[in-house]
Amino acid sequence: MAEAKKALGRNSKKQARAAQPRTTPKAYPNYIGGEWVSSGSGEWFENVNPADTRDCVGRFPVSTARDIERAVAAARDAADKWRRLPAPRRAEILFRLGEILIRQKETFAREMTREMGKVLKETGGDVQEAIDCTYYTAGEGRRLHGFTTPAEMPDKFAMCVRQPVGLCGLITPWNFPMAIPSWKLIPALVCGNTVVIKPAEDTPLSTYNLVKSCEEVGIPAGVVNLVTGHGETVGAALTEHPSVRLISFTGSTETGRLVASSCAERNAICSLEMGGKNVIIVMEDADVDLAVEGAVWGAFGTSGQRCTASSRVVVHKKVYKKFTQQLVERAKNLRVGDGLDERTDMGPVINADALHKILGYIEVGQREDRAKLACGGRRLEKGEYAHGYFVEPTVFTDASPGMRIAQEEIFGPVTTVIPVGSLEEAIEIGNGVRYGLSASIYTQDVNRAFHAMNEMYTGIFYVNSSTIGAEVHLPFGGTKATGNGHREAGTQVLDIFTEWKSVYVDYSGKLQRAQIDEVNFE
Ligand code: NAD
Repeated sequence: MAEAKKALGRNSKKQARAAQPRTTPKAYPNYIGGEWVSSGSGEWFENVNPADTRDCVGRFPVSTARDIERAVAAARDAADKWRRLPAPRRAEILFRLGEILIRQKETFAREMTREMGKVLKETGGDVQEAIDCTYYTAGEGRRLHGFTTPAEMPDKFAMCVRQPVGLCGLITPWNFPMAIPSWKLIPALVCGNTVVIKPAEDTPLSTYNLVKSCEEVGIPAGVVNLVTGHGETVGAALTEHPSVRLISFTGSTETGRLVASSCAERNAICSLEMGGKNVIIVMEDADVDLAVEGAVWGAFGTSGQRCTASSRVVVHKKVYKKFTQQLVERAKNLRVGDGLDERTDMGPVINADALHKILGYIEVGQREDRAKLACGGRRLEKGEYAHGYFVEPTVFTDASPGMRIAQEEIFGPVTTVIPVGSLEEAIEIGNGVRYGLSASIYTQDVNRAFHAMNEMYTGIFYVNSSTIGAEVHLPFGGTKATGNGHREAGTQVLDIFTEWKSVYVDYSGKLQRAQIDEVNFE
């Protein structure tokens, strides 16, 4: 056990595991310049199952800034060859990657459930999202459209083409451990960039599986590099590296701000996908049963650890009682357990830090005036729960919009119900948070649905559906503290991973001066 010694300081999931004696778990090295290598530090951290911390999924390198340096050098060396490979050829390799992901879907989903806890159906969905993203985005290899436009002088041609931005640093969170890396990796590659990817400390295995599949399909050495480790060291080293032209980050708004500042220092491009405090609006004419279904799925899917989770529900007073009674009943009946068990509705939360943060918010909610803890609120720790991080599905009712539990991202299985008297009030509350990712309305009235769609300042909006359920061919991202103006997925993601080049071809054979020379009819 000489190597498996150092747990990552910040992350209690790793600390919990590190103290227990057992056989040495499998080591998963970094991938740099086409080789699987350990970190220069010689240290490893342990990735444990949050449903049972006695189960160690594997060991991963505690990397350092020097590992980032090596990975960046490898990505720099590979850049010109990859950029010059025609985009349809790059795409052909990516289509083969899609085939591997399909073949391995079940294995990757099981490993993902073991490393981060969400139920198998959801981890299957996570891998499926990576498959969808791969096929959809690889198709761009035969498009990557630019445009032509008339020039203002005769015998002159004007067009715009996309060029790769260069070396991209990808920094990802743990809640969608394969889908989110794929949303960044696949478009970066099809556009002709090389990458260094730094996955979240809690979920390096799913990114390892994605990168290993890239190796299997023959993506050339150095084009994709994987470096695991601490955000504050390797993540920061990546954002600060002068050769990294772009950082694509998904994670908390707090970390996003650090990443953005670091990129601003050296004029690097930076795309940020960050936190959310999403709202479901339930009007008095809503199909209440359907709205309850949506709220349960939105609040407790992935144990509420989705950026698009329905952590607020704003309900018209006329259906408030019926809605809250049903919601509470459904929440109480959810089966909490190990995500590998097919009977489980909701798995654990990711680690001890998250557990304590969530329980802390539940305490805050109980202290705040007027909010009522209608169900849940406790850690589950007996019997089958003894070695995991389990929290009861929790519903606060009768809350007011200014409360902390109605304003801050809890990122756990907690939702807050707020009564309202009108659509206008609901929209004001919906917009009254610092985030702007996703919102939804349940109503039978098309006018109300469109009015709310128009007035909610979010990046995503649903009608008669929950706040979660994005599809890869539509742009994904949010306003205000959720993002910095970029969108992933769809064709919009190409604007992150390419830069425009405007091209003028003057075939007049003479000097023509735009804005200065007169153009006559003769
Ligand atoms: P986090 O901010 O703690 O970590 C995200 C990543 O940043 C990790 O890989 C981490 O190691 C790295 N990191 C940490 N400190 C860093 C630093 N100083 N420099 C560079 N990198 C650093 O977030 P998390 O806990 O992994 O994920 C949860 C958050 O992510 C929630 O706020 C959630 O809403 C958000 N999220 C947003 C989206 C979206 O698309 N908007 C999607 C999923 C998750």
